[in-house]
Amino acid sequence: MYDVVIIGGGAAGLFLAANLPTSNALLLEHRETAGKKLLITGGGMCNLTNTQSIEAFLQHFGSRAQRNFLLPSFQAFPPSALMQWFETRGVPLTVREDGKVFPASLDAHEVRDMLVRESKAKIQYNSKITSVIRDGDHFSVQTEGGVITSRNLVLATGGMSYPITGSDGSGYAIAKALGHSIIPPKPALAAIMVEAYHWTHLAGNAVRSAYAEFHHAGEKKRFLQATGDILFTHDGLSGPLILTSSRELKAGDSITFSLVPLEHKVHVPEQLLVLLTSQPKKQITTILKEFGLAASLAQQVVEELDFEATITPANLNKRQRQNLIRAITERRFIIKGIKGFNAAMVTSGGVCLKEVERGSMESKVMDHLHFCGEILDVDGQSGGYNLQAAFSTAYCTANHIQP
Ligand SMILES: Cc1cc2nc3c(=O)[nH]c(=O)nc-3n(C[C@H](O)[C@H](O)[C@H](O)COP(=O)(O)OP(=O)(O)OC[C@H]3O[C@@H](n4cnc5c(N)ncnc54)[C@H](O)[C@@H]3O)c2cc1C
Repeated sequence: MYDVVIIGGGAAGLFLAANLPTSNALLLEHRETAGKKLLITGGGMCNLTNTQSIEAFLQHFGSRAQRNFLLPSFQAFPPSALMQWFETRGVPLTVREDGKVFPASLDAHEVRDMLVRESKAKIQYNSKITSVIRDGDHFSVQTEGGVITSRNLVLATGGMSYPITGSDGSGYAIAKALGHSIIPPKPALAAIMVEAYHWTHLAGNAVRSAYAEFHHAGEKKRFLQATGDILFTHDGLSGPLILTSSRELKAGDSITFSLVPLEHKVHVPEQLLVLLTSQPKKQITTILKEFGLAASLAQQVVEELDFEATITPANLNKRQRQNLIRAITERRFIIKGIKGFNAAMVTSGGVCLKEVERGSMESKVMDHLHFCGEILDVDGQSGGYNLQAAFSTAYCTANHIQP
């Protein structure tokens, strides 16, 4: 009989395994390797936390209930402790200007490999679990390879976004079978597809520090405004501004944003008009580039307006000038849909927080059952918040498990 069986070898499960108070433990991972999702975090560079204060950090989570739930975990194991934990185990870190923390190597493999090395639990890959039951004072985990028994059980099976990484939502069924309620899972931090999108060839281009407003169909009053980077994809828009806003968007809503950075936003039309009238002989694409537009976007705007490539402000009439200014300052797209679980970075919903003891992560429904990481109804914005939540909840679980 094991002291602890952990189901799921992602960020939370691996971190828990590395901090366990016992080595009589087994981690069951149904994929052929652990931490597949960890390897693709932060574009493969692994943005593992953020240096913000705990108060500021909490503001990046979905609801007051989530913030309240996570507070003791973050207090017990804040970003500073996480950074120290990694650095003392041979993973030097680097902090970006915006507070995002990465391994100095900018390689998520270094994080994953170190966690696997530090595991106090034996890791069993390709473990297909068919059922889990409570059997008196212990749990019986039925796998295709036989029954495994344990005094404590931890579910760290993640959410159901990017199922290709192994987080396929199968952990919810186990939690349910053990008596827990599941808040219906929805994709969060997802890119959007837009109607009549002709910008596929611009995929990879971004507008830095964009300002955007969102409207419901037929309504004049915006329901959301946001600032941040917007990335053009092959079928729509992504980037931090879009990902963070996505939970509030639906098909039919519109987004309007300016193709130049926020600092230009307030007086953009006047500033652009001044530039155009003061340089009548300069090519418009050159003026737009000087105004902060990426070369490819400047080209696109000029083409869309059916202007000659070499056109100068002197060739424009008043209406054409207004159209040009509008094309730069009020880019409007109708949202066709929000990307699903295959492309969403996190899952909102999961094991109901009311049924889990905050701080210890132990189930209120069944003793010796714990949850950590994204299987819980916890979802943060992009910026290192989700991994810190996985690590902090795993740390608290490790501290409260009694072998
Ligand atoms: C593309 C992408 C980029 C991201 N970038 C960042 C970032 O830079 N910073 C950040 O903070 N967050 C990021 N996230 C979110 C972050 O990766 C997750 O919040 C985090 O990995 C959750 O950790 P977890 O251990 O709870 O779940 P996961 O990492 O999803 O791990 C769950 C593990 O459980 C296993 N499993 C599932 N079901 C079973 C089962 N029935 N039996 C056995 N094993 C099972 C899975 O195979 C998987 O290995 C990103 C997510 C994506 C998709």
